[in-house]
Amino acid sequence: MSGKRFKGKLCVYCVTRPSITGDHVFAREFFTDESRSNLPQVPTCDSCNNEKSKLEHYLTAVLPFGGRHPDAYANLTEMVPGRLAKNLRLARELSATRSRTWYLEQGMYRETMTIPLDSDKCHLLFELIGRGLAWYHWQVYLQPGQTSRAMFLSKSGTAWFDAIFTMDAAARVHGDLGKGTVTYVGVQAVDRRDLTLWRINFYGGIAVAGDPAAPAEVATEIAVVTGPTTLVNSLAERSQSSQTPRSI
Ligand SMILES: [Zn+2]
Repeated sequence: MSGKRFKGKLCVYCVTRPSITGDHVFAREFFTDESRSNLPQVPTCDSCNNEKSKLEHYLTAVLPFGGRHPDAYANLTEMVPGRLAKNLRLARELSATRSRTWYLEQGMYRETMTIPLDSDKCHLLFELIGRGLAWYHWQVYLQPGQTSRAMFLSKSGTAWFDAIFTMDAAARVHGDLGKGTVTYVGVQAVDRRDLTLWRINFYGGIAVAGDPAAPAEVATEIAVVTGPTTLVNSLAERSQSSQTPRSI
């Protein structure tokens, strides 16, 4: 179904090999069957497509646990059991470590289920998603010396990003996929077209608890920054939001 239009371009993820197919920036498996039409696609090579698929197999089984959107529930009850049946090791891991906890949201404590979240896999996938979105909307290929970096937004990080998003931009974009299953906003810097910032919301906001010693701090939004490596790293540090998520 990917078609010829994605063949022979440069892969948006490695920016080295020619593409052989189209990759869904947000894997179709994050959405219910009814919500899978018109998802953004980008050119990808075989190798990057396979690597991204591995990350997606894991995260499409895990992320719906943290979601609040009705499709997260549909995804959990209809699709996640099938995925876990195919991945017995992950299923055992999740059932052994699942527990309930309380977290603070908008001044109220809510009870939620927590399961462990592999933050490396999560960051890697969202860094690829950032590369995909930058190309899909603005045809940006990240060159050597440029990078993509993902982070969960804590309260301080959210305030910092709120300020950034009000600044002048060359372009702004808003995406709503699967009636709110995934929403995102992006801005592209005026003076550096490779500098793009994204805020991505899955399933109405995935509750990601940070340090178990401070369970009240919950991130619900993921940010991705693309651009020159040194600038991206300093932006990420200044946002003070690169906490290590331990569970969702
Ligand atoms: Zn590639």
